[in-house]
Amino acid sequence: MELSKLDIANTTARPRYDREAGTLVGSRCERCLATSWPGRAVCHRCGYAPTTITSFAQTGMMLSYTTVWVARPGVTPPFTLAQVKLDDGPMIVGHARELAEGTRVPLHVVLVLGEDPEMTPLFWFEPAPDVPHADGSWAAAQSG
Ligand SMILES: [Zn+2]
Repeated sequence: MELSKLDIANTTARPRYDREAGTLVGSRCERCLATSWPGRAVCHRCGYAPTTITSFAQTGMMLSYTTVWVARPGVTPPFTLAQVKLDDGPMIVGHARELAEGTRVPLHVVLVLGEDPEMTPLFWFEPAPDVPHADGSWAAAQSG
């Protein structure tokens, strides 16, 4: 298959979020179900194309996080970066906010989209003690 024959918008033109739904938008492979954010034209796991553009759950599991002490454009240190596995989607690395000191992982989190699409960061994750997850389970309250 020639990639030039795929009728898919290039990376910068593909949607990355759905502001109305408050979700990240990426891709899901119709053959192997691999997910990706930002969305990919061709599956990174099996090479199938085209992929399906899809919105992912607002909930996920934070698996790790770290404090960053180096400034980035538009971001004043210190800030927290976290590795989050979305409930029905890919692993995302993004900002985390509202974490109590000594927060333990894994921790259920919810995605928050910033109000201003020009702001950095565009989205972040917060602890989600009262949010139902895509699998029907409820997050346990965070302890200590
Ligand atoms: Zn695939």
